[in-house]
Amino acid sequence: MIISQQKPFEEILEALGDQEKVYLVGCGECATMTESGGENEIADMKTRLEAAGKTVLGNDVAHATCHELDMKRIFRQSKDAAKETDAFIVFSCGAGTQSVREATDKHVIPGTNTLFLGNVKRNLQYEEKCSLCGECVLDEYGSICPVTRCAKGILNGPCGGTNNGQCEVDPDKPCAWVLIHNQLKKEDRIDQFMKIQGPKRWNAVERPGRLDARDKDEEKGAA
Ligand code: SF4
Ligand code: SF4
Repeated sequence: MIISQQKPFEEILEALGDQEKVYLVGCGECATMTESGGENEIADMKTRLEAAGKTVLGNDVAHATCHELDMKRIFRQSKDAAKETDAFIVFSCGAGTQSVREATDKHVIPGTNTLFLGNVKRNLQYEEKCSLCGECVLDEYGSICPVTRCAKGILNGPCGGTNNGQCEVDPDKPCAWVLIHNQLKKEDRIDQFMKIQGPKRWNAVERPGRLDARDKDEEKGAA
């Protein structure tokens, strides 16, 4: 899921400036799980903004704020409040905030910072294990991603700074290359560890990314 964290309240107030009428938007998916923009956080933010003298004209928690057509539908249903509001404050990832951007010409303020694509370790604890490189090479590395989990992103490691199995850059984290070594050993594929990997194609996804998955369906249909 996409991991986001609410911005400090003072920062949100500063972004609002003297704008008074606000509309809050949360997200029922990732921001609910991370408690940065679910029903509870939106209710809490409404209380705090009202105590700071703001008027909250509307508040919605979309099913998934990154769904642009859904955001437009929500604002059509609340069109009076959406028309009257000075600013929308969005508590989702940056993609969700830009969905709201597509649905209104008003001032749109991100209420969160978007951090990374995260695995859930346990409730409210997340770790980044994939950085969306567009050409997955996990099988070469015992399905432990050196691009993301090695602090230097080394594809032929380790770097030489490993200390008792921990990373020299952040001693609180295990060295990804020790994990890769141990995993390949468990799989009886340790030869793979000694293989020199060629350069990676860093432009596998052109940014900004775009995908029309319907193209694939057409190909299948033609086959
Ligand atoms: S190689 Fe790593 S960063 Fe790239 S897609 Fe696979 S897990 Fe993600
Ligand atoms: S110690 Fe390990 S994880 Fe840290 S930078 Fe070196 S190879 Fe990468």
